[in-house]
Amino acid sequence: MNTGRPTYCARCHRWATALIEAGHPGTGRYRAETACARHEPTARRWASHAGSPRTTPIGGAPAVLFELPEVTR
Ligand SMILES: [Zn+2]
Repeated sequence: MNTGRPTYCARCHRWATALIEAGHPGTGRYRAETACARHEPTARRWASHAGSPRTTPIGGAPAVLFELPEVTR
């Protein structure tokens, strides 16, 4: 994962705050997606089908963005 560029949530295309991974690449049991704070639990649940999920925080966006209330609807 290249964290040097803006990274967006795979589900809502807001800023991603974490990369969720589970399993191992190349084994056929690997899931990874970027997720914002709101979708991190969903992403972990999804990834957990491939194994124990790992969360890698993604930096690069001001923390204040993560504190926004639900504004997408
Ligand atoms: Zn999201």
